[in-house]
Amino acid sequence: MTKSYKFNNIIHMNKLCPYCKKELPIKLFNKHSRKLGGLDIYCKPCRKIQRSLHSDHNKEFTKRWRQRNPVKTREHSKQWRLSDRERYNKYQREWRKRTGYKPSTKPRKRNKANDKLYRQTHKEQIRHNKKMRKIMLKNSTGKFTLKDWWEKCNYHGWKCFYCKEKLTKETVTTDHKIPISKNGTNHLSNVVPCCSSCNSKKKDKKVNEFLGPAGTPTLS
Ligand SMILES: [Zn+2]
Ligand SMILES: [Zn+2]
Repeated sequence: MTKSYKFNNIIHMNKLCPYCKKELPIKLFNKHSRKLGGLDIYCKPCRKIQRSLHSDHNKEFTKRWRQRNPVKTREHSKQWRLSDRERYNKYQREWRKRTGYKPSTKPRKRNKANDKLYRQTHKEQIRHNKKMRKIMLKNSTGKFTLKDWWEKCNYHGWKCFYCKEKLTKETVTTDHKIPISKNGTNHLSNVVPCCSSCNSKKKDKKVNEFLGPAGTPTLS
């Protein structure tokens, strides 16, 4: 048997696979930048066999890599989860079947220190969640995220929709142009930034009732 693949500039069409001992066209070999000649040693089918033979070793190797790179691992899992929801759900179903997983009925043990830290660092988010929940309990439809709300405030230049007073993240309140009590929704389109003084004066009035013909807030 002549070895027809040589590592020089002449392009040879065949390469010997030392595993199956066959001379095969080079397109049957994987590209491999770190191997001599830029090609894998084994042909594709043989490489597949090699991989399955060493699958336990590979699993161990992958596991250790994942332990060393937790951030990359998390990011990769996230990408995988988002790339194909159907496939992910299917995998989850199969995993539950395979491992006999049953969700615990016991309440989750809370980490008090973590909870405290979350409360301290997410004050605005917590306030927002409470607000959303309170409105939801009034049987109103619609919901928006805190980020969307900040964007809406940016759009209005952090000014009260009615009296144009300057507002900050601490002083801004949400006002429903059509009040919830008059079947207004809680969609962002019905919500405007408002100072607390205007908010308490407006109460259940609609925008035109509150502003009157002059277009300025009535002080009654
Ligand atoms: Zn082969
Ligand atoms: Zn105001």
